[in-house]
Amino acid sequence: AKKEGKGKYVFYKNDFLKANIKTVNMANRLKNALDSEHLTLYYQPQVNFITGEIIGVEALVRWIDPERGFVPPIEFIPLAEETGQIYKVERWIFKTALEQKQKWEQNGLKHIKVAINLSSKTLTSDVNFRKLESLLEAYNVDYSTIVLEITETAIITDIHSAIRRLEILTKKGINIALDDFGTGYSSLSYLRNVPLNVIKLDRSFINSIQENGRELLIIKAILSLCKDLNYEVVAEGIETKEQLQFLQKQQCTIGQGYLFSKPIPIEILEPQLKSLTIK
Ligand code: C2E
Ligand code: CA
Ligand code: CA
Ligand code: CA
Repeated sequence: AKKEGKGKYVFYKNDFLKANIKTVNMANRLKNALDSEHLTLYYQPQVNFITGEIIGVEALVRWIDPERGFVPPIEFIPLAEETGQIYKVERWIFKTALEQKQKWEQNGLKHIKVAINLSSKTLTSDVNFRKLESLLEAYNVDYSTIVLEITETAIITDIHSAIRRLEILTKKGINIALDDFGTGYSSLSYLRNVPLNVIKLDRSFINSIQENGRELLIIKAILSLCKDLNYEVVAEGIETKEQLQFLQKQQCTIGQGYLFSKPIPIEILEPQLKSLTIK
């Protein structure tokens, strides 16, 4: 038994070491990716179901590693948050998205909203929040068409600081979206003092629409509450016509998902945006 225990310990220890080596390797590669511009932004269109028009885009970061290929953001964003690299990565994301937004505004696409994900780390760090604030100031963009997507985690870590920082942004006219709504624990009433403009209905809700009646009732209730509280609702992860029809029936009019488009690189997105302005 002792031997077995010892063996197990060795196993766990090696596992632990392996995990650390993996983290350090990944962190180093991410640093290189930033330096050598292996990061890029994809954009997923947000569509008005009634007019069929693209009203905005969500910027989603992509890491294309020359050796390993595509590294999904769910793998490296949490890691970057752990190592503190997120601040630099995020400033790169904001810089890139805001430069793009500025170009669109100069080229007749002023109305296209740009949604950017804001890490919960930034909302809880004074220094880094201020750096981001000055980055936002550095670009000449219409703030009313900028949306920052935050998660519940960012708010509940320190609700008073979060509210204070979000108010700085909303006073400039920037919109705040609550991302992944429905996956966390807070109710909208708990969040009533948080300055929010948009609620993003999580994909898991949209997914479960046909499955059972309870989910359906919950979505209906959320949509009606959002309407009463004057939040815009964006439905995420719409994949089927049935899901779209259901949302339309519930008077939900804006959403994104593979049914319309996957996140796409700028070269593919731009012609689509331009064809819409002509229309
Ligand atoms: P998120 O912010 O909830 O982003 C939506 C995710 O859902 C994206 O995954 C998108 O590609 C995916 N998606 C969109 N429509 C559909 C659909 O119809 N079906 C399915 N199955 N999936 C759909 P992605 O790009 O892999 O990003 C995953 C998460 O990584 C994001 O979730 C966000 O939390 C984080 N992330 C991505 N880009 C950034 C970024 O630039 N900054 C930060 N801080 N986080 C990011
Ligand atoms: Ca998001
Ligand atoms: Ca989301
Ligand atoms: Ca998510």
